[in-house]
Amino acid sequence: MTGVTPAQLRDWISRFGALIDEHQAELTELDSEIGDADHGANMARGMHAVVAALQSDPPETPAALGRSVGMTLVSTVGGASGPLYGTFFLRLGTAAGDATTLDAAALGAALRAGVDGIIARGKAAPGDKTMVDALVPAVDAWDAAAPGGDPVAAADAAVAAASAGRDATIPLVARKGRASYLGERSAGHLDPGAASATLLLEALRDAVAAS
Ligand code: ADP
Ligand code: MG
Repeated sequence: MTGVTPAQLRDWISRFGALIDEHQAELTELDSEIGDADHGANMARGMHAVVAALQSDPPETPAALGRSVGMTLVSTVGGASGPLYGTFFLRLGTAAGDATTLDAAALGAALRAGVDGIIARGKAAPGDKTMVDALVPAVDAWDAAAPGGDPVAAADAAVAAASAGRDATIPLVARKGRASYLGERSAGHLDPGAASATLLLEALRDAVAAS
């Protein structure tokens, strides 16, 4: 069973950047409803810097990739989402250890470590109407599918779970982040971070399936 390679992980990141560009206006529109209308711009600024850093100095291991992406996001995105996504990648890189490729189970464990980092940093639980509502079901679905050994099947399951989790944020009342200032008025809107987190899983699925 071959593992996911550093080149595929770099492809993941560049596909995520492209999806963020494609959906930038939509992410900002979602954030204008329950936030401050900058989520699309925040993510686009961060991912442009990330993609430029990966091109100028391509990381050769999963650990180096996580470190590069994480540090760039933390240092270039001012909003709440920068440190949170940055922590995700930093933890993912640490969890990868000295592995050169990641099989389905190892990549699942790295994704889980990243999501646990977001939760440790942002203190959001599932149901608080944040990116965590897409990410936790996604890594749960990944882990359930990973024993089959096929990262494409695991990634497909993760995308389906992330999308369902994203859509399930609509009726929720926000309990974390800027949207929580709106209280009950935050209900009826899809969380922008749950939308970008679903793009993160879609990009991973596309990168893993492409090779
Ligand atoms: P800001 O809220 O600082 O303007 P962004 O607009 O870029 O930052 O990101 C907003 C998104 O960040 C929200 O939609 C939500 O998903 C996510 N978010 C905010 N606070 C938290 C938190 N404490 N834990 C997890 N996710 C959070
Ligand atoms: Mg915002």
